[in-house]
Amino acid sequence: LRKPKIVILGAGYGGLTTTVRLQKTLGVNEADITLINKNDYHYETTWLHEASAGTLHHDRVRYEVEGVIDRSKVKFVKGTVTSINREEKRVILEDGEYEYDYLVIALGGESETFGIKGIKEYAFTISNVNSSRQIREHIEYQFATYSSEEEKSDERLTIVVGGAGFTGIEFLGELGNRIPELCREYDIDQNKVRVICVEAAPSALPGFDPELVEYAVNHLERKGIEFKIGTAIKECKPDGIVVGKDDQVEEIKANTVVWAAGVRGSSIIEAAGFEAMRGRVKVDPYLRVPGHEDVFVVGDCSLVINEEINRPYPPTAQIAMQQGALCAKNIAVLVRGQGEMSEFVFDNKGSVCSLGEDDAIGVVFGRKIWGARAAFMKKVIDNRALFVIGGPSLVLKKGKFNFL
Ligand code: FAD
Repeated sequence: LRKPKIVILGAGYGGLTTTVRLQKTLGVNEADITLINKNDYHYETTWLHEASAGTLHHDRVRYEVEGVIDRSKVKFVKGTVTSINREEKRVILEDGEYEYDYLVIALGGESETFGIKGIKEYAFTISNVNSSRQIREHIEYQFATYSSEEEKSDERLTIVVGGAGFTGIEFLGELGNRIPELCREYDIDQNKVRVICVEAAPSALPGFDPELVEYAVNHLERKGIEFKIGTAIKECKPDGIVVGKDDQVEEIKANTVVWAAGVRGSSIIEAAGFEAMRGRVKVDPYLRVPGHEDVFVVGDCSLVINEEINRPYPPTAQIAMQQGALCAKNIAVLVRGQGEMSEFVFDNKGSVCSLGEDDAIGVVFGRKIWGARAAFMKKVIDNRALFVIGGPSLVLKKGKFNFL
């Protein structure tokens, strides 16, 4: 008897949750499960701001995929997906092809530049382990070079962060702690360092509780971070950015520009010909691509509407993991040909935005929290993500216990 082939693309929050749930549910003889991921490791995307600032080593934010999968049930393939052939039900990798009966697309997000000139070429993005490591090294190199050069150029010590959304603010929080360390290490007067956050929207952290936003901005300003709110980046150049507010245009010289202002779904989605908005497929209630009932999409590549406000839920690890769990359940129903698939309902437990090691803001189970309590909660959430995928042993290996 031919076993159905389940192929999962991406070992991030969505893909790994789907995989570990499927391996728990299905027996060895029920299906062939293949998980394909670019690297042989999973990284905690939600911790990348720390690796980028250099407050947490990048090895702390990643672990081996094979450590959390059951190899008797799941075949792991390290490979880069280049396209999907929907008619022939095949996934094409840089070096090989895989057939599927059921496909789960969980390839995560990519940076969205909104067509702003020069961003792609000259700005860094907090996207994966490689890009984070590059940001950390680049900043450190600027500090080291500044100390050793005869003629000091202050733009070496100017860092621009594009975007005061979740990622931008969390990264600024880490920089707030990292800059004084770098100054001590490289004998630099901290007054020479400028960290500027540029945000086009009329407020930082759009959509967050205004009181908490004020708390966050005050906290970061006390750490020396400057905010230019309601200001758009018009262009990024090799030596800085051009910004505009009302009719005023200003050039800011900076050797480091980090773009943290937008995410979109994987470009593979459009390349495969699926109908999408910025690389995100509006999935049906069972998390499938409308018209392609054998293809599920979870995480940043998917789009689910929040009926209460008639707008999409923002892409988060929280929703990706809940989708992964439901996707596994629905695929098991299809594989077994018995039972009914369930509809996806997002159970929003809230969110916590870190402001560095020991401060944060958030709304958890409908209650506002800030300060040390919120920072503690953030670590609980980070550890929970490890627990859901790898159980207590993974928490012990990779968890954050620096609050003890
Ligand atoms: P990911 O977890 O990003 O995984 C995608 C996987 O696919 C990766 O392993 C990647 O290597 C792989 N992949 C990509 N392309 C290919 C390819 N072509 N071939 C093979 N493999 C490929 N969300 C929260 O809920 N809370 C937070 O506090 C939070 N903080 C964040 C902080 C930062 C700095 C960032 C950047 C994001 C944060 N998010 C947060 C958002 C969250 O990280 C994402 O929504 C989440 O990672 C999406 O999960 P995913 O499974 O779709 O993708």
